[in-house]
Amino acid sequence: PLVLGIESSCDETGIGIVRGTDLLTNTVSSSMEEHVRFGGVIPEIASRAHLDAMVPALQAALAEAGVTLADLDAIAVTSGPGLSGALMVGVSAAKALALATGKPLYAINHLVAHVGVGVLDGGALPENLGALLVSGGHTEILRVADLTSDVELLGSTIDDAAGEAYDKVARILGLGYPGGPAIDRLAREGNPKAIRFPRGLTQPKYMGTAEAPGPHRYDWSFSGLKTAVARCVEQYEAAGQDLPVADIAASFQEAVVDVITAKAVLACTEHGITNLLLGGGVAANSRLRALTEERCSAAGIKLRVPPISLCTDNGAMVAALGAQVVMAGGEPSGIGFGTDPSLPVTSIHVAAAGA
Ligand code: ATP
Ligand code: MG
Ligand code: FE
Repeated sequence: PLVLGIESSCDETGIGIVRGTDLLTNTVSSSMEEHVRFGGVIPEIASRAHLDAMVPALQAALAEAGVTLADLDAIAVTSGPGLSGALMVGVSAAKALALATGKPLYAINHLVAHVGVGVLDGGALPENLGALLVSGGHTEILRVADLTSDVELLGSTIDDAAGEAYDKVARILGLGYPGGPAIDRLAREGNPKAIRFPRGLTQPKYMGTAEAPGPHRYDWSFSGLKTAVARCVEQYEAAGQDLPVADIAASFQEAVVDVITAKAVLACTEHGITNLLLGGGVAANSRLRALTEERCSAAGIKLRVPPISLCTDNGAMVAALGAQVVMAGGEPSGIGFGTDPSLPVTSIHVAAAGA
């Protein structure tokens, strides 16, 4: 099916068009620069930027794909999770389009779309699939029994998301916003073993054993790590010493990536998961990509990592999951649905009210 996807959950206005598992176009316009001076995304500014960007992005995407609205088989839109006002712009646009064209509309979960985008890079997803979702708002390890109907949460962060930790640490180190790409770059010049930062929730009382799992065997915690970096910086400042910024960045990154990959691979091996998809904005991180590859290969897990342009927020991922739902015979969502800023990952697409 030919499906148009609309993404507006944070600061990217994304329009993607796919035919089945083939990507036709992926137009992304970001309001990132408008948030830089505030050091984080300002919801009101993001919403206004979506409003400005939405129709031009739609027109550009249709032109680039060489299709018209009449050609579409369905429209898909992110209805959550994300910023409420930002989501409303995309959902309103999608409802208007659906009403005007009479095309079926599918309300899609942004997090599952970060996984579903995998079909655009290598076709249908394999069986025995797990997904490691590492993004600005989430860090989760999932068992994907069926992408369109059965996703199970095996573990997640109990406080900050990994991307959030990158952004906060970047701010502590004075690297500006967004922090992920800046730390990624700087870490290449530093020594990842310079400072041993904590790996959260790895003590035996949290881990337990395979037979008797502890309360957080597959969970992560990154707030202690962020505090440890802040303490470290304070110590250098108190001593009047120059801050070894690259070493701190590399050591911080190593702590994040080490514990993420170790627990993800553990969850997979203990659940008989033999295929893993890495997704979400932090999947753009070079060290995370490399260590996940290394540890999956050692554990006999086949890894799929979409290209970076499909890992960061975009409309193609929404269209891709929408197309999968259409192909699986999923019910359209009608036009009565609302946005859900905290939609759980197990809610893959929103059924029509009353259905
Ligand atoms: P969610 O998907 O949980 O709703 P989001 O959509 O805001 O959150 P994404 O756009 O998927 O998040 O990811 C953005 C995050 O990815 C930011 O925290 C950013 O710092 C981080 N990020 C982007 N590139 C890199 C990189 N190379 N290394 C580390 N982090 C990165
Ligand atoms: Mg973003
Ligand atoms: Fe995202």
